[in-house]
Amino acid sequence: MSQETIFTKIINREIPANIIYEDENTLAFEDINPQAPFHVLIIPKIAIPTINHINDDNAHLVGNLYVVAAKLAKEHNFSDDGYRVVMNCNDHGGQTVYHIHLHMLAGKQMGWPPY
Ligand code: 5GP
Repeated sequence: MSQETIFTKIINREIPANIIYEDENTLAFEDINPQAPFHVLIIPKIAIPTINHINDDNAHLVGNLYVVAAKLAKEHNFSDDGYRVVMNCNDHGGQTVYHIHLHMLAGKQMGWPPY
């Protein structure tokens, strides 16, 4: 499976995105098709295609995604109201871009189940 996706192009600034956070390992940018008032994708800079490719060696990069989510929640003042983070896997999970990403959605009441 190729690890080059549209997200690699965003990391490399080959296509534009509204980037709201960046550090050595992680990038966060607004989703192009937002499903909530705040809908950001938090990604590792190294392409991991799916959750199935997470292992002991790259697990810290995945943990970082949650650390950034908590930072963004604090910065944007919705830590207390709450928010949702979700990562889709493969076809049944609804994954369309094969570079893992944490969807972070906030600013409205979420429903459950998510279908
Ligand atoms: P998935 O369906 O894989 O869980 O989520 C992929 C997400 O990437 C979708 O919410 C989609 O709107 C977003 N997306 C796809 N292409 C682009 C793009 O070029 N720029 C940005 N900012 N988001 C994108």
